[in-house]
Amino acid sequence: MADSSGNVGDGGADLGGVPHGGPGDGFAHQAGIGVIGGSGFYAFLDDVTEITVETPYGPPSDSLFLGEVAGRRVAFLPRHGRKHHLPPHRINYRANLWALRSVGVRQVLGPCAVGGLRPEYGPGTLLVPDQIVDRTKSRVQTYYDGEALPDGTVPNVVHVAFADPYCPVGRRTAVATARAGGWPAVDGGTLVVVEGPRFSTRAESRWHAAQGWSVVGMTGHPEAVLARELGLCYTSLTLVTDLDAGAETGEGVSHDEVLAVFAANVDRLRTVLFDVVAALPATEARDCLCAHALDGLDTGLDALVDHPTR
Ligand SMILES: [Zn+2]
Repeated sequence: MADSSGNVGDGGADLGGVPHGGPGDGFAHQAGIGVIGGSGFYAFLDDVTEITVETPYGPPSDSLFLGEVAGRRVAFLPRHGRKHHLPPHRINYRANLWALRSVGVRQVLGPCAVGGLRPEYGPGTLLVPDQIVDRTKSRVQTYYDGEALPDGTVPNVVHVAFADPYCPVGRRTAVATARAGGWPAVDGGTLVVVEGPRFSTRAESRWHAAQGWSVVGMTGHPEAVLARELGLCYTSLTLVTDLDAGAETGEGVSHDEVLAVFAANVDRLRTVLFDVVAALPATEARDCLCAHALDGLDTGLDALVDHPTR
């Protein structure tokens, strides 16, 4: 079907994205929940449908992999690409969030690896932040920049509320679910997002810690704000893989250390994610601040008409 933005949608799919490929009908190309994380989260699922989605912002990091978890349709997107070839500052965050929304996603879970800024947040800690600090430098972080899209649509300049950057319902669900599963998740804290791809110096790390911030990562921004700009719920689940440079006394954090700790925890993180998926409210039941983020705002983007899915 043709929509007002000139794209050709996929039987009932949302507007503005163009899914291609994969077997099945339109339903196979729909999902209400999105998970942005590595291939370890969906690789073993049965009946995964791989689809490519074009967006007005260029290609997302990879195909979307759609499957079912606890009766819920979930779209998985490898944040860094399936070959992990995209560093944090090269990720097309706008395309990623747009692609997810275009297949019906309204609630997004964003697991990521972080460094702990306090000694008590050692490797293996799961922290569900409630605040974010942006210390990135080169990333496009809005859909509403007044720049014309390829089809000629010009988004308006609007300002979304971001005082509370994460979905309160998603956060609550994540913390309760992790704790019920025996992982004592830290409820709240500030994620500071740095440009990377290098790790912090000791001085930077000590400064971050001195501000009272909790964990440091490289991908949480602009993922969270772009989700908000599309009216999506976004919940960050941060897994501490190391003590950041200022919080430890050894050689400082290394790439291998991060990968090893993440690999050691990916199974239980996946278990928590799937339990959270099962516990999230139905799409049509959303009544959180994220669901109302665009109320009263004229975005100029016709594609942002809501199409509930489960
Ligand atoms: Zn929400």
